Amino acid sequence: MKKISIIGLGVVGRVTSLMALEYGFAVDIYDKNSLSSEDSASYIAGGMISPISELDYCSSDILEYYSFSMNWWKKIEQEIKVDLKIKDTLICAFQQDASELELIKKRIRLTKNPISENVPCKLGFTGFKIPREGFLNPRKFFRSSNRFFQNHKKCHFFQKKLSNDLPGLEGSIIDCRGIGAKNLKNLRGVRGELLEVFAKNVQIDHIVRLYHPRYPLYIIPRGAGLFSLGASMIESDDNSAISVRTSLEILTTAVSYDEGFLEARILNSLVGIRPTFPSSLPKICKNKNSISINGVFRNGYLYAPSLAHKVLREII
Ligand SMILES: Cc1cc2nc3c(=O)[nH]c(=O)nc-3n(C[C@H](O)[C@H](O)[C@H](O)COP(=O)(O)OP(=O)(O)OC[C@H]3O[C@@H](n4cnc5c(N)ncnc54)[C@H](O)[C@@H]3O)c2cc1C
Repeated sequence: MKKISIIGLGVVGRVTSLMALEYGFAVDIYDKNSLSSEDSASYIAGGMISPISELDYCSSDILEYYSFSMNWWKKIEQEIKVDLKIKDTLICAFQQDASELELIKKRIRLTKNPISENVPCKLGFTGFKIPREGFLNPRKFFRSSNRFFQNHKKCHFFQKKLSNDLPGLEGSIIDCRGIGAKNLKNLRGVRGELLEVFAKNVQIDHIVRLYHPRYPLYIIPRGAGLFSLGASMIESDDNSAISVRTSLEILTTAVSYDEGFLEARILNSLVGIRPTFPSSLPKICKNKNSISINGVFRNGYLYAPSLAHKVLREII
């Protein structure tokens, strides 16, 4: 039986491990933290799988990854609970920023993907919908994949911090260390901060992305009055606690969109570092004794299945 060693248990390492087990490999997984650690960008992420909405930040190359990845998440959901939802995304802006929305619409139309005409919005806002984009719950994915790894006979987890030359590992080595892979040229960190709130007065059951030149915001409903509100984009790999500035920006924009957030309870603040290359696109790199998958930036959940499949196909 062929052996694979996978280093890093963020979304890239997890998806690669799950797929490798599915393809019949024996898998050794290494992470510097414990299996139940909550300390990775992937754990705190929004979990959106929404390539059209992301065209504001990424090149249209992102679209090539969508269909394989989405089908993989749909399939894996039968065994590993991720709470995958597929709903229309509302893209909106304050009325005075309507021209910004027109630019975004133009970019989307160039890709020939469908969008709605303007839809009714809250007073003072204008917006349109992107049909059927996905989002999942990273916490559920982590918990449920942890159980899967623990119960799988061909899978072993080792808590170990590995140096860049990844010594003493068996089989083919796949490096998924995110921002921990300091050896990769031009890899940098982009800090993201997010708040989790309980807002019993807010009735939103789909993603809302509010475009603003300085304070963009997304609202992700988690059910039972829970919402994730995010996220900042700061050129830094400082993962200390959320700043007052970001908290104010997120909360002020959220309240201006829906006053129901005024009485919300802040449950959690979360910070993660997005591993990013200058192109904002991910890369598969062949190193001396390993292959690395990295640079998934804002879209680890979208890119991971497609990238993992590409790498594993070469190893088979
Ligand atoms: C606020 C925020 C919101 C986001 N929202 C979304 C979203 O909605 N949708 C989406 O797709 N993406 C989102 N992202 C981006 C997403 O989180 C990243 O793209 C993704 O987490 C990167 O995954 P990764 O597996 O490469 O790295 P990580 O998640 O950072 O995982 C790397 C793993 O490697 C381990 N490691 C590091 N160094 C070593 C070492 N030397 N030895 C052993 N182990 C090591 C770490 O402990 C960690 O477990 C968001 C990010 C942030 C910060």
